[in-house]
Amino acid sequence: MTDCIFCKIIDQEIPSYKIYEDDVVYAFLDISQVTPGHTLVVPKKHVTDIFEYDEKLASDVFARIPKIAKAIEEAFPEIEGMNIVNNNKELAYQSVFHSHFHLIPRYSKNDDFSMHFGNHMDQYTPEELTAIAEKIKKQVK
Ligand code: 5GP
Ligand code: ZN
Repeated sequence: MTDCIFCKIIDQEIPSYKIYEDDVVYAFLDISQVTPGHTLVVPKKHVTDIFEYDEKLASDVFARIPKIAKAIEEAFPEIEGMNIVNNNKELAYQSVFHSHFHLIPRYSKNDDFSMHFGNHMDQYTPEELTAIAEKIKKQVK
């Protein structure tokens, strides 16, 4: 895609700190370095977000993620964990509209990454949860 920053990085039109490349993915350091080693894994094929993946692309892309995660872990033995984050659409914090997976190594509770999972368990009856599950289940193709 002509006006896409990640397509330009993949095509070497814009420089990047490359970590790995093959026929399916391109992995490089995120310029923001939320924590040291913060890496993006992007499919070479331009897809906007998760909703544009087919099964084959999803399986090909995700197959590469553990090996890049393990390389980061090997490179930084002090790593205590890793968040893998994939934002989809603006409301969900996507800012570059070429799908990508963030690999964010975690060093301590005080490193510069956080996530909040609200807990609303007490606001649902079992019937309501069943209805939600059924509604989604019907759409699985
Ligand atoms: P999103 O907010 O879409 O989940 O993540 C986009 C990420 O792309 C951000 O973390 C941002 O730092 C990174 N990013 C944006 N532009 C560039 C760039 O030109 N080079 C690199 N390496 N990362 C970028
Ligand atoms: Zn693109």
